[in-house]
Amino acid sequence: MDGVKLTNIRKAFGPFEVIRDVSLEIPKGDFGVFVGPSGCGKSTLLRMIAGLENTSGGRIEIGGRDVTHVEPAKRGVAMVFQSYALYPHLSVAENMGFSLRLARAPRHEREAKVREAARILQLTDHLDKKPSALSGGQRQRVAIGRAIVREPEVFLFDEPLSNLDAELRVQMRLELTRLHRQIGATMIYVTHDQVEAMTLADDIFVLKGGHVMQSGHPLHLYDDPDNRFVAGFIGSPS
Ligand code: ADP
Ligand code: MG
Repeated sequence: MDGVKLTNIRKAFGPFEVIRDVSLEIPKGDFGVFVGPSGCGKSTLLRMIAGLENTSGGRIEIGGRDVTHVEPAKRGVAMVFQSYALYPHLSVAENMGFSLRLARAPRHEREAKVREAARILQLTDHLDKKPSALSGGQRQRVAIGRAIVREPEVFLFDEPLSNLDAELRVQMRLELTRLHRQIGATMIYVTHDQVEAMTLADDIFVLKGGHVMQSGHPLHLYDDPDNRFVAGFIGSPS
């Protein structure tokens, strides 16, 4: 059961409380999705789990360990950014191995992990190319590869598909589901897109104004929304 557990998490920027008393649990190996309108605090919550943002209160546990004050690199998490965050002057293999290099992992170990990630993501034939020679979907897979090589307990995704066109988004959704089945790690995914949330999630957390309005299995939220906001938000695709 020890995936990710948040207890009474709060975050204020100066006088503005943007996360208000969020408590939730994502079981180990589950695909959790934070969904809600722009500005509701999804990215802030994810960044606090990653350790990129301090908490103003509350506790964060990963794998049963209190990581609230642990530095990002030691939390066992890896964040997947949008594909444009790739280094243009480095090859696909170098992009994927970059964090391992920073961590001074031996070369043979780096290469083995990059090869394995490339196999999972079907990028083996593209390892020597520069990102500019890849399609949008391939670039997004490289961005995911950079997380996979770190073998995190928890993957964190912040709207990774928002720059892709509609057709590619559908394809990448299927790939993310496949990846989750294959790797089996806990994943937390942030989106403002209800369809994306409904198709990917084991557990959905609907946020509004820095607060979880309702959480549960997608079908449960769809069939039995607690209030009009959840009903309107889950029921009507944007
Ligand atoms: P979302 O990802 O759901 O769109 P965010 O987590 O980015 O929302 O932002 C939630 C709220 O916190 C917004 O009102 C935003 O303006 C505010 N916010 C985010 N980061 C900062 C910051 N560094 N300083 C001040 N306000 C911030
Ligand atoms: Mg955001």
